[in-house]
Amino acid sequence: MKKDIPGKDWPKTLLSWFDRNGRELPWREDKPRNPYHVWISEIMLQQTRTEAVKPYFNSWMERFPTIHDLARAEESEVLHQWQGLGYYSRARNIHKAAREIEEKYGGTLPDRKEAVLSLPGIGNYTAGAILSMAYGKKEGAVDGNVLRVYARLYEVEEDILKSSGRKEIEKLVESTLPERAGDFNEALMDLGAEICIPRNPRCESCPLSSECRALLHGREKELPIRSAKKAPKEEQAACGVWIREGRVLLHKRPSKGMLASMWEFPMALASSAEEARQGLEKLLLGTAGDSMWHYRHVFTHRIWHMNAYQMKEARVPDGEYRWFTPEEYREIPLAGPHARLAAFVEKLVD
Ligand code: SF4
Repeated sequence: MKKDIPGKDWPKTLLSWFDRNGRELPWREDKPRNPYHVWISEIMLQQTRTEAVKPYFNSWMERFPTIHDLARAEESEVLHQWQGLGYYSRARNIHKAAREIEEKYGGTLPDRKEAVLSLPGIGNYTAGAILSMAYGKKEGAVDGNVLRVYARLYEVEEDILKSSGRKEIEKLVESTLPERAGDFNEALMDLGAEICIPRNPRCESCPLSSECRALLHGREKELPIRSAKKAPKEEQAACGVWIREGRVLLHKRPSKGMLASMWEFPMALASSAEEARQGLEKLLLGTAGDSMWHYRHVFTHRIWHMNAYQMKEARVPDGEYRWFTPEEYREIPLAGPHARLAAFVEKLVD
């Protein structure tokens, strides 16, 4: 009789592979798993590599060991702790959610799906991860890794970035979830991170190689189907470095929008470097010297080509501008690439 591929027992095969090969990670140390640890690690892992997350996770837990500690902290402390991870709305949402959990649920993450999903910054994926890993519920957690693995295993022809492709895979996940759903979700994450990787999957080491339709048909590098992404917007950014009596002038960004409420060097954006520099001179009513620092920063949908200029004969514009010594600005949340510029400027301050 012809064997179905993948066969119905592949989740068991994957789980026994995971029992022997699962990664040791700081947030997997507690048994049973701590819901707070699962939550914070999953949010940190969105858009950030596992290796980069480890030190952030450890220092976060030292600073805010419980949801109660996090709820009582100021937003600026939370943002400062997050500094370097990027996508700061994640940190803001964690903070808001912690306050809500403290108020409504006495500081413990709820174990009901609707309640978890109603918290700021928690979507289907994170809710599924928390409920399955920390509360033993039979819930899937579909992220990019899971979409890729299933698209290959089942040879899914739909675009996984479209909702039809996603729905098809969500149904497959639901129909294949075993009792140990938390371990299964983590096993899929590990398989997607280490073996069924985006470009050149390591099929020779894969525990599911005899179950995979894409491999059977030689399509493992062609799948999943993904529509082309829009090219990011490129902008030139001119940053003003104005040092006066051992202090540096910084500006607080508006409380809404990109990098909200974070501090930055006075900055002007334009489509050419010269226009950006003129914009900066206009903002500070001063003269910008030669560019002394250059950096290219890539966000999800935009790229900043940054130049920093030492300012002469400038004036402080209206708005939220303040002078900081390097010791002081090390303690405030600096907006993404401005933290790099701040490290460079430290050497210039007497
Ligand atoms: S056999 Fe290859 S393509 Fe298929 S699941 Fe394993 S690593 Fe991915």
